[in-house]
Amino acid sequence: MKNCVIIGGGIVGLSSAYYLAKAGHKVTIIDRTDMTNGCSFGNAGMIVPSHLIPFAQPGMMAQGIKWMFDSKSPFYVQPRFSMDLFKWGLKFYRTATASHVEKSMPVLRDISLLSKELYQDWAKQTDEFLYQEKGLLMLYKSDKVGEEIIHEGKEAQSMGLEVDFLSKDQIPSVETGVETTAVGAVHYKSDAHLSPNKLFAFLLTELDKLGVEISKQTEVLDFKDNRNAITEVITNKGTFATDEVIIATGAWSPELAKKLGISISLLPGKGYSFTLKDQFQKPVVPSILCEGKVAVTPIGNDLRFGGTMEITHTKDTKINMKRLEGILSTIHSFYPNLQFEDPKEKDIWFGFRPCTATGLPIICRSDRHSNVILATGHAMMGLSLAPATGKLVEELVDNKKASIDLEVLHY
Ligand SMILES: Cc1cc2nc3c(=O)[nH]c(=O)nc-3n(C[C@H](O)[C@H](O)[C@H](O)COP(=O)(O)OP(=O)(O)OC[C@H]3O[C@@H](n4cnc5c(N)ncnc54)[C@H](O)[C@@H]3O)c2cc1C
Repeated sequence: MKNCVIIGGGIVGLSSAYYLAKAGHKVTIIDRTDMTNGCSFGNAGMIVPSHLIPFAQPGMMAQGIKWMFDSKSPFYVQPRFSMDLFKWGLKFYRTATASHVEKSMPVLRDISLLSKELYQDWAKQTDEFLYQEKGLLMLYKSDKVGEEIIHEGKEAQSMGLEVDFLSKDQIPSVETGVETTAVGAVHYKSDAHLSPNKLFAFLLTELDKLGVEISKQTEVLDFKDNRNAITEVITNKGTFATDEVIIATGAWSPELAKKLGISISLLPGKGYSFTLKDQFQKPVVPSILCEGKVAVTPIGNDLRFGGTMEITHTKDTKINMKRLEGILSTIHSFYPNLQFEDPKEKDIWFGFRPCTATGLPIICRSDRHSNVILATGHAMMGLSLAPATGKLVEELVDNKKASIDLEVLHY
């Protein structure tokens, strides 16, 4: 049995704690917040094996530059003088190649499908986090976007996923809740969805039963090492002795990694969501409104919309209402008959997606230490990939053969 300290109580930290404690380890989670409103809460709740293509892909740089001049666009890089931003942009540019995409797709498929299997296991224990397998509709309004979406759907099909291609007339047979102006859709039958908040509650109960200790409002400041091993985690509330340290600090990971002498290229991708409570009229299948990259998820009686990706810094906590206008105009144009009151600024949630320059998560051991594991950089797929990440962390701690090939998931 090892004494494992997990830094970060988001969905990745909690999932790692679950599998480590199940394997018999003593686990402590440290988080500087009270763990009630981080990035793992207000997200769109989608489990997305469909997302096989890493964000760093050919054409993305040019598209990103075009979008930078549109204040309502779904993707935006906040221009500023920053070495981190420069290095991230350069790495993104160099990585966004066809061969990177080709190498990454099987790994993303395998980790996603493993994660979904683990979600199915959790969902067998309880229906309290509202796990459902209704797939994901990629709805599009223009032939140009449709072409790209259909191409991606065919690639996913060739990788073994079940995908349907729907004409405008076929959409109402799947999306029975609301009418849409979409001219076509790709239906990924592999995808699922759940309530992120209720999932969090479920995991906290399970961790409590497994004896996991959680130290909230505790900020990790530094580390004490002996040769190449970390012996203590130093916080504002004292020190924690440790045999294994797991860095699961999402968008803040570069700060802690730096204290360990590790450089990772990761920036926060700010995104917004808002939730319509007890929304009677709503879509029944989770969807992405492709032209505006808006995610739509029915969660129990509620309906959640999420969108925008602003590459920024973690001090940027302002809600940019222009971006929100972009989200709202996309929703109204896809669902002209959906009745709801536009949200006010106070109703908007935001979170920082931990975005690596490669578009891939980082799940690996540190090269510099014998007992440090990084589990971060999941960008827009942290919820989706969390259970598999937790399992892989446990396999690394126990020096087992990893369930999937981790080579491309190194920092
Ligand atoms: C609008 C939006 C929609 C999204 N939709 C989806 C979706 O549908 N499906 C999906 O899979 N993903 C989605 N995501 C992405 C997903 O939410 C993230 O990938 C995921 O939450 C990241 O989880 P994490 O545990 O890595 O990080 P976080 O949840 O950010 O947790 C990191 C934790 O580390 C703590 N921490 C940081 N530094 C320190 C320190 N020094 N000491 C102590 N604690 C520290 C923080 O307080 C924080 O609680 C969405 C994101 C957004 C913004």
